[in-house]
Amino acid sequence: MDDIKLFARDDNGLRTLVDHVERFSDDIGMQFGYQKCAKLSARRGKLIWTGPVPTLESEINELDYGQTYRYLGFPEAGGIDHACNKSIITAELHRHLKLVWGSLLCGQFKVKTKAEIAQFDVTVRKTLTAAKSHHPRSAIERLYLPRKLGGRGLLNIEHLYHRRLILLSHHLQSSRDDLVQACCELMMQFPPRKSLLSKVDDVVSSLLLTDVLNYEVGQLKTAVIAAQRKKLQSVLCDKPLHGKFFTFIQSSTIDADQVLCTRVYQAKIMHTPIQSILCRLCQEQEETIQHILSGCPVLAPTSYLRRHNMVGRVLHLHLSKSFKLPISAKCWYDHQPLPVVENEIVKVLWDFGLYTDVHVSSNRPDIVLFLKKEERIIFFEVACPADINVLTKE
Ligand SMILES: [Zn+2]
Repeated sequence: MDDIKLFARDDNGLRTLVDHVERFSDDIGMQFGYQKCAKLSARRGKLIWTGPVPTLESEINELDYGQTYRYLGFPEAGGIDHACNKSIITAELHRHLKLVWGSLLCGQFKVKTKAEIAQFDVTVRKTLTAAKSHHPRSAIERLYLPRKLGGRGLLNIEHLYHRRLILLSHHLQSSRDDLVQACCELMMQFPPRKSLLSKVDDVVSSLLLTDVLNYEVGQLKTAVIAAQRKKLQSVLCDKPLHGKFFTFIQSSTIDADQVLCTRVYQAKIMHTPIQSILCRLCQEQEETIQHILSGCPVLAPTSYLRRHNMVGRVLHLHLSKSFKLPISAKCWYDHQPLPVVENEIVKVLWDFGLYTDVHVSSNRPDIVLFLKKEERIIFFEVACPADINVLTKE
């Protein structure tokens, strides 16, 4: 017996009820926690003060004006104190956010009235930005997309709220209880903006969902989550710069936020007045991340070649280990491939020009593997293309 509420017509009635509970508690060997109890009197819906209720051993104090007591974890007075509940939830959310984002956990593990709910998400984003975990000009939609779709998998409180609304309205509208049905009909007659059902209609139409009532509860939840993701993706893909990568991964088969301080970023995102958006090295093409990573002719013979050879080294080391060939180092970054290494099973050539009967312009494959017993030759060509050129290179 816990969290019990007693209702009586007047103080005398309440005294009798308290007396019963007290005797019953004694009979079953339970202590009556007077200090945790509170008394409240109301006349015609207004709180009045009629004094404490005496008990056999002590008395139950009356709540003062503005005071609340906790019932099932929520502060209540004449009813549930929504304002107090809201400030407690907000303070708790801030506390959790500070705890999580102030911790040394890496990014992927940190993740946990309409305008007010949207404000929660704004507060979360501000906290992330203050903790240097979210760039202020970064795409918001990407934060809320699941990780498997290239997002950061953060929970959007507004989406959660919308989902609850839709499920609640589905529950009410598909209920067979006459009273619930009557309530729904009444809600339909409310002025459009005020009823739950009309709010749900707005949310459902913004998500382009139809025939919501035909869904099973489980299916509906999945459908709403999918529609919310689809909406996020479409908004993100419409963004000229942030959406570039997402449009690409949707049409075919990686930092996508474009927040490195390239000239294009300075001009198009930060709107800094700069003279040219052409690459500072080659002065030929726009200075974007894609260009710096894999499109600049000045970097091609130096940095790109070095990167290409590094990838080749990893491959060469793994081949050498697999076929038990002598290796100079255990780690790929210390590994210096020799032009020719062989044993009784295989021969591996590294960046070795091959003589052919017929003229072949590319006669210097990165790695050539001769399988002696099987009399087979395997050529390895390494390429490090930009995301958008992967298919062409393949
Ligand atoms: Zn360049």
